[in-house]
Formats: sequence, C-alpha cells, structure tokens
Amino acid sequence: MSLSQIARTLRESITLKLNQTAALLREKGEPVIHLGGGEPKSKTPIDAIVSCTAVLNSGDIKYTPADGIPALKKAILRYTEEHYGKAVRPENVIASCGAKQAIMAALHAILDPKDEVIFPVPYWVSYPEMVKLAGGVPVPVRAEDGSFHPLVREIADAMGSYTKAVILNSPNNPSGAMYSKEFVAELVELCAKRSIYLIMDDTYNRLVFDGRPPVNCYDYSSEEVDQSKLLVINCVSKMYAMTGFRIGWAVGSKELITAMAVIQGQQTSGPATPSQWAAVGALNGIQNSIDALRVTLENNRNILIDRLNAFPGIRVTSPQGAFYSFPDFSHYMADSQKLSEFLLNKVRVVTVPGREFGMEGHLRISFCGTVKEITDGIERIRWALDPTAPNELALGDRRLVRDWM
Ligand code: GLU
Repeated sequence: MSLSQIARTLRESITLKLNQTAALLREKGEPVIHLGGGEPKSKTPIDAIVSCTAVLNSGDIKYTPADGIPALKKAILRYTEEHYGKAVRPENVIASCGAKQAIMAALHAILDPKDEVIFPVPYWVSYPEMVKLAGGVPVPVRAEDGSFHPLVREIADAMGSYTKAVILNSPNNPSGAMYSKEFVAELVELCAKRSIYLIMDDTYNRLVFDGRPPVNCYDYSSEEVDQSKLLVINCVSKMYAMTGFRIGWAVGSKELITAMAVIQGQQTSGPATPSQWAAVGALNGIQNSIDALRVTLENNRNILIDRLNAFPGIRVTSPQGAFYSFPDFSHYMADSQKLSEFLLNKVRVVTVPGREFGMEGHLRISFCGTVKEITDGIERIRWALDPTAPNELALGDRRLVRDWM
C-alpha cells in the first residue's frame, strides 16, 4: 500500500476520536462522564425541524447550488446585517458542510505550497492539520507571558513574506478566552495593512458571558467587503446545538467566495439539502434557544470554575465564552496525554489533552454537559489525583479502589 505523504502524516481529530471513545465505553455500560465534548446537550430548535421535515416530506431532495440555496443565503445575509451591522450581497456568502469545510475551502482557495497561516496558542486542534491539508505551513504563536492572549506585536513578529493568513477564534476553543476589541481592531488593521487574509472563526460568537457583547471585526474595518481580505466564519452547530446537521458559512469578498464555491463544488457539490433547510428554519425562527443556551452555559461555567478553584494545585482562568475551560494541571502531571489517559482509565472521565491545542500541561474540560456531569466529573478527577482522598470512590453501581499512579 502506498498512501500519500499527507495521508501518512495527517493527525486524526482528537476531539472526534474522544467522542467515539466515550460513546463506545457507554455502549459497553461503562459509567463514563464526557467532559471532553464539543457540543451542547440541547435539542435542535423546532423551527429547524419543521423546515427540514417539510423538504424531506416533499421527497424532492436534489442538488442545490454548490454555495447554498438562495433561502439560506438570504437568511445568512439577514443574520450578518442583524449581528454584524453589515449589508452584504449573496455573492459574498457561501454555505458549507460545517464551519470546518468553510475554513478548509478558504485555505484551499488562498494557499500555495509553503504559504504560512498564523494562529494564536492555544488553538483549535484542527487548524494545523487543515492548513497542512491545503499544502500550507501552520505557524502557532505563543504569548511570551504564557497567557491565552498573544499580543498583536507577537503576531506581527511571526509574519513574513510567506504569511498568507491569520486565523482568530474568539471566544476560543479550548480556553474560552475572548480577545478584546482593542486586540481585534489592531489585528484587523495589521492584516489590512500587510494584505494578509484574516479568517475570523466566530463559531462561538453568540455564546459570550457576563453580559458582554461579542466583538464585531467589521467595526474596525474601513474597507468595502469586496476589497477586504476579512473572512467571517459562522455555523449553526454550537449556537443552535445543531452539530449533526453540518452547516456553516463564510462571508467575504466576491473573489474569494467564488473561488471557495468552485472548490466546494468539486469536493462535495455543496452541503446536504435537508440540512440547508434546517439551517434556514433555525436562522429565521424564534431565537430564544440561543439565550437559553447561553444562560445555561454561564451557570455551568460558574459551577465548574467554583469547583476548579477549590481544587488544590491547578490554575484556571475563567472562560468568557464558548463552553470550554483550559486549566493547568501540570502540578499533577506535565504530560497532558498521559494525564488524560490516566483519568479515562482510572475514573472514566473524558478530557482532552492540552498538547493537542498547543499547550502542554493543560486539559480541556467542557461545560456543555449537565450540572451533575460537571460536578461528578470534577469530583472523580479530584479523587483520582488527591493522594489524601479516601481510597474508595463510588462510580455508578461500582466502587473503585485506587492503586496510586
Ligand atoms: N469543535 C468541536 C470540538 O472541538 C467538535 C469536534 C470537531 O469537529 O473537532 O470538540
């Protein structure tokens, strides 16, 4: 067998793999708590279901334009106007198979071999692999002070003649950190000045806590959308809890969007028709599920952070959005992969190793589950790591006796 170099070197998505691990263990009856997940518990909004089932019931489910059905584009135009104050045209919009495919199509559309793409550390697991898949070179930028917020100066220092794009994900997966409006303003200006694409991954943009407004990159761009190298990515996956529908979109210049549509047309012929109609329903329907989700997540965040703050030896920064926390567990074990495996084997709690996001010693702990999952999960982790804890833990209908690490 001779596989391509990319097939031999591309790393599997750890987040997707751990979802499978958790599901398989559950099937076997193991009392798993999945604190590694990346999807809200809530159900698909009813407006999405109604819209999707209407097209399914028609039985007339055919190819659509590769860049999305007109009704979805119209809903995205309205969304962009309402949430970004930006009026764009259908030629500026492409609907894709999840935010992932929108980013992937963009990378394919802009990267030549050796071109570099910069993103701050910690970064979403898939960015480096997606950049490699498109033939580019990933350039993660670490904050000198070890925080989750590299300075714009540090990003500028990483730029060179091969730099083609910067990806910014705010609120951030895995840290839940938000970049300030000053940071975004400076970065928008820097990228425009150097003619570098800025891909704003706004997947979690509506899930911001403490009454703060999301940061809108267009507020800091003076360019017309067709002249701009700003590309804004969104999806229905997180805000409407519709991960399985796989619908995301991008808003950008006509030139870039047209190139992305050609690429997408050759790759997939476009996103699945029923999913596109589900997204139309979600975007045009009653919007209160987003507020309900945000309130639930904020409450979960508070409970999780209280528990983590009371946990001796770990350092945690309170997330400002999304549904991930990224505590530093290096006091217990420097190798996050080993620690994550230890917790899975020992107490059946799934976490994602920080190494996968470019920060060793940390674990990504999600709070998109139930309060009980969060409190029980943290309790199990505490028990597993605390040598002074009683030597037995009730775990579902079993009892665990610890043989220490
Ligand atoms: N974005 C989610 C996560 O980070 C979903 C999984 C994925 O596509 O990576 O867990």
